[in-house]
Amino acid sequence: MLTKTITTATTAVLEELRNRIGAELTRRELAGREPTDERQVVEERPASVGTLRLEMVKCGKERCKTCGRGEGHGPYWYLYSRRNGKLTSRYIGKTIPDELIGRGA
Ligand SMILES: [Zn+2]
Repeated sequence: MLTKTITTATTAVLEELRNRIGAELTRRELAGREPTDERQVVEERPASVGTLRLEMVKCGKERCKTCGRGEGHGPYWYLYSRRNGKLTSRYIGKTIPDELIGRGA
């Protein structure tokens, strides 16, 4: 039944479905991760292809005063998504571009 639905669906519908599956797999993988001191999640939002996370990040440099105070840098937004079955993150910046927000329910 699902196979027939797939073969008759439009390309646009299939691409949307692929995005939503990828976004859901990303959400589940992130939810299963242990929190780390290097990246502290301030806020999380669903995006069309994955999950947006606002994070405070430790740079790892030994002499960094900011990280030495325990603050980390940011907060900055990162887009987490799956590429070739692997979870990847991409730096977005201080604000989120409109095209990355929302995935329709
Ligand atoms: Zn630092």
